Amino acid sequence: MPEVGLAQEKIRRHNLGALLRLVHLNGPVSRTVLAQRMGLNRSTIMALTTELTAVGLVREELPKDTRQQGRPSLMVLPESHRVYVLAFDVAVDQLVAARIGLGGVVLERRVAARTRAGADLDYVVEVLARFGRQLHDAAPPTSVCVGVGASYCGMIRPGDGMVRFGPALGWVDQAFGAELARRLGLGLPVLVGNEAHLGALAEQQRGAGAGLQNLIYLHGDVGVGGGIIVGGKLLDGDGGYGCELGHMMVNPHNGRPCGCGSRGCLEAEVGERALLDAAHRPAELFGRDAVRTVVDEADRGDPVARDAVRRIGEWLGIGVANLINLFNPGMVVFGGMLRDLYPGAAAQVRSRIAINVLPVAKERVRLRISALGDDTTLIGAGELGFCELMADPLDVLFRTTP
Ligand SMILES: [Zn+2]
Repeated sequence: MPEVGLAQEKIRRHNLGALLRLVHLNGPVSRTVLAQRMGLNRSTIMALTTELTAVGLVREELPKDTRQQGRPSLMVLPESHRVYVLAFDVAVDQLVAARIGLGGVVLERRVAARTRAGADLDYVVEVLARFGRQLHDAAPPTSVCVGVGASYCGMIRPGDGMVRFGPALGWVDQAFGAELARRLGLGLPVLVGNEAHLGALAEQQRGAGAGLQNLIYLHGDVGVGGGIIVGGKLLDGDGGYGCELGHMMVNPHNGRPCGCGSRGCLEAEVGERALLDAAHRPAELFGRDAVRTVVDEADRGDPVARDAVRRIGEWLGIGVANLINLFNPGMVVFGGMLRDLYPGAAAQVRSRIAINVLPVAKERVRLRISALGDDTTLIGAGELGFCELMADPLDVLFRTTP
């Protein structure tokens, strides 16, 4: 192919991916809006949507509201059943596997409990691979798996999905991504990301912060993970291990010991154990249900539970105030266990922001709980699986279709 033709082909493929991504994240979208968002004329948009329709990735429909004057612009929708990804979420207490269709639709899922027994790579990979195979085998024969993404509650090496450090259950240098890919046997790599990084991206792409360019996501579990998005990009640091907001120092002198070996980290002061200890719960009680019980009792006015939630809110507020001063986010999103805790602790968090954040930095910041509920990290893992398809849809379809 001559050089000009090659350049045009490259642009066309890039545009197909960009259009598919817009429809995947925002669909249904009208052709007119697609033309505006992509800076292309309507005939180019029509050519692109025709091509994506022909391979079954999108479909076009007349808009439901046709009261407008003139010829209505066709709406472009993602086809959720033509392609899918497998998404896995490894949290401290549970393992989730799902088949997610284009448009971010969770089509089917499997869930298993995970005990806090310590390093358990074999168990985790065995369960997830089994679930993954079941989901894959149950998919309609006309649909194709185009990628696999996984979220893990630890520090992940980009590229090969190695869990470098997962302090909650003692994982150090465990080849999670490679091992899961091998046992799935689908001939696809498993792309792995840190749960809070993926959660931040999911909330920014299709959750509470949709459309925002600057956002911070705090994910509570046993500890606290974080994701910071600045100018639309995740701050992942030099080695991919950035945004460990849970280990931001908030209480250095009298702080609680932290799983990382330090003392007074944010997660030591606001994590699950901090709340349960503050509410005088015995050590045998732990997990999300125990957290919810404290939050519910606080809601009903129980003084011990209420004081515990307020105390955690105070430390959470100090952490959030530091983050707002540093990054001037448009939104701070609370996910995981912090989604349950935040509503009862909002007054303390807001009060800390009022006292400790510089006046202009707090003018616009909004505080929200995750809009994707407990699926934030799972959806984030799914988006990781869709990455390649969005980069070059036709090439990926060609490679994955048997
Ligand atoms: Zn720490």
